[in-house]
Parts: sequence; C-alpha cells; structure tokens
Amino acid sequence: MEQKTRVLVWNEFRHERENEEVRRIYPDGLHKAIGASFDERFEVSYATLDEPEHGLTEERLAQTDVLIWWGHCAHDDVDDRIVLRVRDRVWQGMGLIVLHSGHFSKVFKLLMGTSCDLKWREAGEKERVWVISPGHPIAEGIGEYFEIPHEEMYGEHFDIPEPDQLVFASWFEGGELFRSGCCFNRGQGKIFYFRPGHETFPTYYQDEVRRIIANAALWAAPTKREKPAYGNAKPLETIRSTVQGGV
Ligand code: ZN
Repeated sequence: MEQKTRVLVWNEFRHERENEEVRRIYPDGLHKAIGASFDERFEVSYATLDEPEHGLTEERLAQTDVLIWWGHCAHDDVDDRIVLRVRDRVWQGMGLIVLHSGHFSKVFKLLMGTSCDLKWREAGEKERVWVISPGHPIAEGIGEYFEIPHEEMYGEHFDIPEPDQLVFASWFEGGELFRSGCCFNRGQGKIFYFRPGHETFPTYYQDEVRRIIANAALWAAPTKREKPAYGNAKPLETIRSTVQGGV
C-alpha cells in the first residue's frame, strides 16, 4: 500500500476560545475544519499554540511531511526556537502551507526574508479567485475561477519575494487585487501560501478551498531523495591542470 501523506495542522486556537462569533462558525477550532480537507490518502494530526513546545517537538516534526499553519493574534507568542526548528525542517524537505493571516507569522516572514505586509479590509465582500497556472497540480479540479461569497480583503502590494509559481490571484468586490496562491522553494522544502480563511467566515467549509488545501499538501510533500552533499568535495575526475598554491 502506498504511504499516506502525514499532515500536521497547526492552529494558534485563540479566537475560537475567546470570541463567540468565531466559535459559532468553528466550534471545534479552525484546525478541525481545515483537517476535514483531507481524505484517506492522508494521515492528519493537530497541534496548537498552548501545547508544550506549541505541539511542534523535534519528534513530531520529524514525523511530519506537510505542516499547515493558521495563526493571527498570537504570532509573537510563538517561541523563536520553535520557529527555527520549523525553518530547519522546511530546509530539510518538509512541506509548509501557510494560510491567510499566517502571512505575518514568524515562520513565514523568516522563510521569505521580507515584511510580508499587505492591505486589508474587513467588509465581508465577495472574493473571486482566478486560476493563473491551470496546469499546476494545486489547481487540479478547480475551474477558471471560483468565488467566496464573504471574505476579508487582502490587497496588493503584498511584500513577498517573487513567487516561484503563482497559482491563484484574487479580485475583490472593492476593486483590489492580490496574489493569493504562491509557491516558493526553500532548501529541499516547498512552501505554499494560500490567502483565504478569515476566522469570522465559513471559508474552510467551502469545497474549492478544501480541494486546494489537499492538492497543496500532495504537492508540498517531500520527494524521496538523498540530502544534497555540501562542503568540501573530492573530484570525480582526475584534475591534471592543478597548480600548487603560491604561483
Ligand atoms: Zn483575517
């Protein structure tokens, strides 16, 4: 039997406990709604901010193929040691899917190296998500575009490095535009940033959104290969033109 993709859904899990409106939409937490995106091809587990080491121990991360990140109001509460641990795992090949307000997480900012700032507005307007790369595996099963009836607006300029592939771009009813599905390669790891998912809207119950998150996890899963060799290297061929130092 083919091995399942091991997905760990991480959620800061604060809004749901502190805000009635969010709890009504996501009674079991955003992480459980996000986790419902995955079928039997995946093995899904969960971690939240207030667990010891934020639920992201060395052992846990070592057994994770793809980490999904949802955070918003408590980015600063994430321990810098854990941030470096996640970064190192991405460099080693673990996939990372950063959702919505995770654009401002320490992990994403560190891996991007930019401010990751953007424009925003909470008007509950319509978002139309356009497929920019129809041949990309993350867009599989998605039509020319799909619509989310009510969402928070994120607008350009989004201060990220040029994505390696742009899979989706969003138009908002108020007129703004946003690069809402961006792929990046860092070390051996693959990163996908996906914009939708404000906590006061039922976005993570929408079929297209769930399909994209599952597609992205398959895409971001590590490929099985040896770690590249770095550092001082013995020549493969005999080097005849060598000159002893000091010429
Ligand atoms: Zn939001």
